[in-house]
Amino acid sequence: MDDKKVSILGIPFDNLTRVEFLTRLLERMEANKKTFLVTANPEIVMYAKEDDEYYHLLLNADYIAPDGIGIVRAAKKLGTPIKERVPGFELMLGLLELSNMHKKRVYFIGAKEEVVTQAVKNAEKVWPNLVVAGYHHGYFDHSNNGMIERIKSLEPDLILVAFGFPRQEKWIHQYLETAEHGIAVGVGGSFDVLSGKAKRAPKIVQKLHIEWLYRLVKQPSRYRRMLALPAFMQQVKKQKLLEKTKKKRDN
Ligand code: UDP
Repeated sequence: MDDKKVSILGIPFDNLTRVEFLTRLLERMEANKKTFLVTANPEIVMYAKEDDEYYHLLLNADYIAPDGIGIVRAAKKLGTPIKERVPGFELMLGLLELSNMHKKRVYFIGAKEEVVTQAVKNAEKVWPNLVVAGYHHGYFDHSNNGMIERIKSLEPDLILVAFGFPRQEKWIHQYLETAEHGIAVGVGGSFDVLSGKAKRAPKIVQKLHIEWLYRLVKQPSRYRRMLALPAFMQQVKKQKLLEKTKKKRDN
């Protein structure tokens, strides 16, 4: 495997800082290279173990960013530390900043109609030179190719897809199968945050790496999904044990 990659439960993460990710993504935008960017957290890694189609989609991604402290801790535990955690939301902000600076065309797709509309308005306020190629809510038939054709005809350089996983990655895969160029990334609930509808945890909570706890308290319905975290660490321990045993056997 590429020495810049770190495998966690079979998912090859790119060991890059946020700035390194953005530098490479800008290079690819400039070179018109179509790019599938995934920001993966422990929930996604765990889900990929159950859904083979999704797992293979992830293996085909051009970049996988370590979204969340759980991934950073897992990498450390496995003896292959990664440089830093790269939150999907921050990567999205960085991509919008670059698009604003370099006059790249951005398409926003996902979330509820009023949410995506407000998210785009807010983005235009923050980045006055942003070229918005278009936007659409995320509640349409995702298997319908009409939407893909429509967006492709607008030739966006960046497509932000906010359907939540695994829907967003599955749709991006379909999109990039025929699109000629563009960076496509699934951004989960980011439009809810960008629109002001959902707030990110306060800075102090983010710093303490307990955003998951904050979310849990704010949104108890996420409880079931949060259970993915301990299960994830359990699996990481198992991977470590397996690797140790293998090393011993090889020696
Ligand atoms: N969403 C969407 N289309 C759908 C389902 C969800 O656009 O068919 C949007 C939803 O409005 C929200 C985002 O996807 O803005 C993330 O949804 P959710 O919280 O369910 O996923 P998570 O962020 O937990 O992955």
